[in-house]
Amino acid sequence: MQCPVCGGECVRDAAEVVGTVPVVFSPCNECEAVPLDKGAPLPRDYEPAAACTCGRRFIDEVFASIYRVLREEGTIAGTEPLRAAGMPVVHPGFALATPPFLPARSLVLLSPHPDRRAAERIVREVPEVRGVVRTGQAVPGLTAGGHAAHELLAGCDVQANLFSTSIGEVVVYKELSQTHIEFPRPVNLKIAAVEREIGRHAPHTFVDACSGAGTLGLAAALAGVPEVVFCDAHGPAAFWTAANIRANRDAFLVDDIAVHAEREMIPEVRDDPVLVAEAWGDQHLLVYHGDLARLPPLLEKPERSLAALDIFGKEDRDACTRALAAWRGAGGGKAFIP
Ligand SMILES: [Zn+2]
Ligand SMILES: [Zn+2]
Repeated sequence: MQCPVCGGECVRDAAEVVGTVPVVFSPCNECEAVPLDKGAPLPRDYEPAAACTCGRRFIDEVFASIYRVLREEGTIAGTEPLRAAGMPVVHPGFALATPPFLPARSLVLLSPHPDRRAAERIVREVPEVRGVVRTGQAVPGLTAGGHAAHELLAGCDVQANLFSTSIGEVVVYKELSQTHIEFPRPVNLKIAAVEREIGRHAPHTFVDACSGAGTLGLAAALAGVPEVVFCDAHGPAAFWTAANIRANRDAFLVDDIAVHAEREMIPEVRDDPVLVAEAWGDQHLLVYHGDLARLPPLLEKPERSLAALDIFGKEDRDACTRALAAWRGAGGGKAFIP
């Protein structure tokens, strides 16, 4: 699939990505790591080391290169600690035991500092960086009044995370400027909850009712649930859920996939659910773009369905109780908060 952001080959099949792990960020015998003090400003005379002959470079050196460009462009004063340059998000993302040695185009920088000029320089001059995103105050995604996003200033912000299930890995792509970030951890409690509830209820249909980029529904599909329905009111989430079904399709019992809308045709927010993608075979996967409150009438067998309501603000027990009651009241069937 052509990358919808940069037109390149950012989105690869899941097996290909999984095959690069764990060595993708491992040092060769010649690779050197000289840790820098992340709590102090980068010394003015510090010259970042060049990449090793294997093509990788220790993340601290990459960060020093980024910091120097931000300082030269005047977007930071140079008195800030090194870690203030921004948040590094590696591609592909998975739980790392040690700091990574980065190959080319393997890091997206999220930072409040850069302007477009600095961002373009970073992508041009720091080969490990694939994209620079300027972060705003709001968490990207749907908000009470609409939607929020960070801004992609240069390069590409498509990034994949690997999530482990008891059966295997799922690979989940998304645009970092458009969605909130979820880091892979050695144990994913939400995926464990999904597998536990599927084991308990053996549903015909699993509903990933706030799908985001599709992680929980993909885990349910991998667990062999005959039908999985994904739904999200946020356009980029619905788009990437569809893309992620395609990227992971070899792990599912599906023969054909149809995507009914291109990235630019999907509006940011939608209430009435619209089918944007579907995959068939011995399993049936459906992706709806719309409000989860309006999804239950579209379920064919709500009495045999199980929904995961991965809502924001789960700390608020009342909000969870309300969400579950609303889902059941709308005829959605069994549900749980993962
Ligand atoms: Zn791309
Ligand atoms: Zn090396």
